[in-house]
Amino acid sequence: MLDLAIIGGGPAGLTAGLYATRGGLKDVVMFEMGLPGGQIMNSSEVENYPGIKEIVTGMELMEPWPEQCMRFGLKHEMAEVKQVKKENETFKVILSNGKEVEAKNVIICTGSTPKRAGFEGEDEFFGKGVSTCATCDGFFYKDKEVAVLGGGDTALEEAVYLSNICSKVYLIHRRDSFRAAPSTIAHVKERENIELVLNSNVKKVYGDAMGVLGVLTVDNDGNEKDLKVPGIFTFVGNNVNNGVLKQDDGSFLCKMSDYGEMVVDLSMRTSVEGLFAAGDIRIEAPKQVVCAAADGAVAALQVIARSL
Ligand code: FAD
Ligand code: NAP
Repeated sequence: MLDLAIIGGGPAGLTAGLYATRGGLKDVVMFEMGLPGGQIMNSSEVENYPGIKEIVTGMELMEPWPEQCMRFGLKHEMAEVKQVKKENETFKVILSNGKEVEAKNVIICTGSTPKRAGFEGEDEFFGKGVSTCATCDGFFYKDKEVAVLGGGDTALEEAVYLSNICSKVYLIHRRDSFRAAPSTIAHVKERENIELVLNSNVKKVYGDAMGVLGVLTVDNDGNEKDLKVPGIFTFVGNNVNNGVLKQDDGSFLCKMSDYGEMVVDLSMRTSVEGLFAAGDIRIEAPKQVVCAAADGAVAALQVIARSL
């Protein structure tokens, strides 16, 4: 039986693994379905992680983290977790390949995934002109015009990033004020090749078998605008990945908020003994790498205290 199962290998899961193994726990496995690093790997610019003197990409930031953790004995199993259950005092981690692993403690660090905006053509053209990752797909639109949808930090940062590659960026937002940080808004306004399309939303994306040919926007007065762009990047927020906590009867393993986040106390303890949460999955998460990492450390220290 594992001392600790960590579900998810982003900044929260990796830091939980580092503190747990370095703090003396022997059998610690981090279940991560992809490469460790988490959603920040999709970011083209990180400048607010302490100790970073210059802007780095998310991949550059996360590259050393797995090696650091493995040095102290953390094991990474590349697998998707389907469900976490508790029977008597033992947790059962059920993988999508059917394997079941028992653990004394579990830290859920499954983070969040990009939301779909819901416009016509979004699913049909996803991966063929509709993208949620500028670092991954921006280069396909070198010297071309693109659209970006959203008014948060991600949309604005990625619009600036794309403005370095693309000839023009239309930034579409449904209101006339942004929720992004003031410094990021200032960066956007400095860029001559970012055109704001405010009080507007995307009605439809259209194209052919080769991909997107244009984006139809509609403003709050019903006026339509046809942007002839081959690509649109949507950054309209994230959904928390809480599926692993769903039990056979449809209930959740622990207490959740109305938004599907895990309810925790200041020690990252949930309503279930031995079950912890860390990072973007928990209530009131500031949704920052530094905060997710800190949560992971706090949760791991609690597991160690519980194991003494
Ligand atoms: P995540 O990073 O979401 O990691 C969760 C991991 O769990 C993923 O690797 C996923 O594959 C895995 N997982 C999920 N479900 C399962 C399952 N069932 N089985 C196995 N594995 C699973 N923050 C900053 O501080 N500075 C920034 O500049 C910044 N820029 C950002 C830019 C973008 C484009 C985005 C999207 C976010 C940005 N953030 C930034 C926010 C930051 O990325 C997150 O707050 C942080 O990554 C959260 O870490 P986490 O470990 O909680 O979750
Ligand atoms: P977000 O803050 O939730 O912003 C989502 C944006 O999309 C909002 O402007 C929202 O409009 C818009 N939107 C939502 N649904 C829409 C729809 N269906 N159609 C059109 N527009 C829609 O998401 P985010 O920008 O991804 O940021 C998530 C979290 O990560 C935030 O806490 C953010 O601060 C953090 N983050 C931080 C950094 C950084 O520190 N540098 C970078 C990236 C992200 P409204 O404004 O009208 O609601």
